[in-house]
Amino acid sequence: METIIKKADGNNIDPEVLMQAGDIIKKGGLVAFPTETVYGLGADALNPLASSKIYAAKGRPSDNPLIVHIYRTEDLYKIAENISEDALKLAEEFWPGPLTMIFHKKAIVPYETTGGLDTVAVRMPSDKIAMEFIKAAGGFIAAPSANLSGRPSPTSAAHVIEDMNGRIDMIIDGGIPVIGLESTIVDMTERVPMILRPGYVNGEMIKEVLGRVSYDPAVFCENEVVGKAGLKPKAPGMRYRHYAPKGELVIVRGDRETVTAYIKKGIKNALKEGSRVGVITAEENSKVYSDATVLLDIGSRNREDVIARRLYSVLRECDEKCIDYIYSEDFDTPRMGQAIMNRLIKAAGHNIIEV
Ligand code: AMP
Ligand code: MG
Repeated sequence: METIIKKADGNNIDPEVLMQAGDIIKKGGLVAFPTETVYGLGADALNPLASSKIYAAKGRPSDNPLIVHIYRTEDLYKIAENISEDALKLAEEFWPGPLTMIFHKKAIVPYETTGGLDTVAVRMPSDKIAMEFIKAAGGFIAAPSANLSGRPSPTSAAHVIEDMNGRIDMIIDGGIPVIGLESTIVDMTERVPMILRPGYVNGEMIKEVLGRVSYDPAVFCENEVVGKAGLKPKAPGMRYRHYAPKGELVIVRGDRETVTAYIKKGIKNALKEGSRVGVITAEENSKVYSDATVLLDIGSRNREDVIARRLYSVLRECDEKCIDYIYSEDFDTPRMGQAIMNRLIKAAGHNIIEV
């Protein structure tokens, strides 16, 4: 299939592009589109055949549900049941924005969209192109991230093209998403709203609005005991190895000097073996690792927004540059640290060395 690629400017969106994208969705096709988190791969959420195509294009396991994207809060009532006061408060505070909420689904939402579950995940993105696209496409867009299953989520149109060219009908190129990490997922069917996936909207922010919040214990699991301890993450997508580069990625944690010394020694050994070695490092420390085959500067420790935005690009760069061993510092920054480290730890397959 030939994939149509069209640029769009959020401040002046070409109506022709929106119409074309909307038509493709209404006919059951697939369109990748920008959001403020990462690029999404959209289909008509209420059309089971269209939703099924998403799984095929991504190579995604069929039990991993999609998020339904809407452009106005009133549409939530058409697809979800038992919408609580808490949910309305969170919608009021964080929609449109990077927050996904889980509700009991209405019959109109096909099981192809929810991966067989009786619940549905719903989000209203704030990106202008995303909003207008959802509207033009009929109001209900099922979309996971627009990457091949297992690869890092796409944070540029180039990433989407890399993974999806020839597999989907259209890609809307809207530049670089401002956040760069997937939305926070909160399960509103739990007695106390439960965070299943950390994101830009953190637990503190939710607690400030509701006075309470809980966490899926699997969110904090840093070792590969998730399965062994019977801690099955409630968000099916969190069970899969994800975001992973092809080379072996190790996170090194400890006090700054010991970490640096450990990584420098690792670089030396890897080079001796004839391997290509990369280091994911904060800007402040990048000069220290000048021996590495590839330096992956993720930005200043004082700019966690930049670290979040660059993370997936850096992980993709590991593959582009055919790196065999990748060392990473940890980036436990104040506000988004939990979300950043959650993704990085999964990318490393829980491979963490404490020094
Ligand atoms: P992606 O946007 O690619 O990150 O995929 C959507 C994420 O939402 C995956 O991690 C899913 O497992 C999660 N998700 C979607 N619907 C539900 C649901 N009904 N219950 C729990 N998690 C969900
Ligand atoms: Mg994804």
